[in-house]
Amino acid sequence: MHEHEHDEHAPITDRDELTYYEKRVYAIQSLLIEKGLMTADEVRRAVEDMDARTPALGAKVVARAWVDPAFKARLLTDAKAAVTELGIDTGTLSTLVAIENTEKLHNVVVCTLCSCYPRPILGVPPDWYKSLNYRSRVVVDPRGVLKEFGLELEQEIEVRVYDSTADIRYLVIPARPAGTEGLSEEDLARLVTRDSMIGVAKARMPDQY
Ligand code: FE
Repeated sequence: MHEHEHDEHAPITDRDELTYYEKRVYAIQSLLIEKGLMTADEVRRAVEDMDARTPALGAKVVARAWVDPAFKARLLTDAKAAVTELGIDTGTLSTLVAIENTEKLHNVVVCTLCSCYPRPILGVPPDWYKSLNYRSRVVVDPRGVLKEFGLELEQEIEVRVYDSTADIRYLVIPARPAGTEGLSEEDLARLVTRDSMIGVAKARMPDQY
């Protein structure tokens, strides 16, 4: 009998059955390859490139906006161009809009239809972002949903919900936490979490690393 005191590795599942959508994706992919429209290596590289994108890219953008008012102004005017300035490839993003959270205004992002998300700068969306629960409820009761995320907003703070589309993706610029005046841009970036850029949380306080 092979026993573990504690399981050090994640369970390995052998799932041989493909789901309907997996089968469909593979069928389309092999057709495109067969017709010479793309190669298997190009598909692999695109997946690899997507997997390499993480919220660290968005955090870099937000930290720059916190320290450089001129950059923040450009980000609020044309986010795609501003993000590109930092050497971040915006990939297939059509329009990117940056929205700023302040002491009086809190913005939160959803895609009520599906899962539109600024993937080139935040990577793959979390599962809850794609859930029907979040998508249907955050537009009706944003304060209630934010409270479930642990974010309680005072009544004086206005809450706005932005609904993403295939064409427009949003990046929330969370408010810069108090007491961070002395921090470097790199240290500031570590305060900017994925959830704070979706708007379901505030940026971390420096003592919450
Ligand atoms: Fe969508």
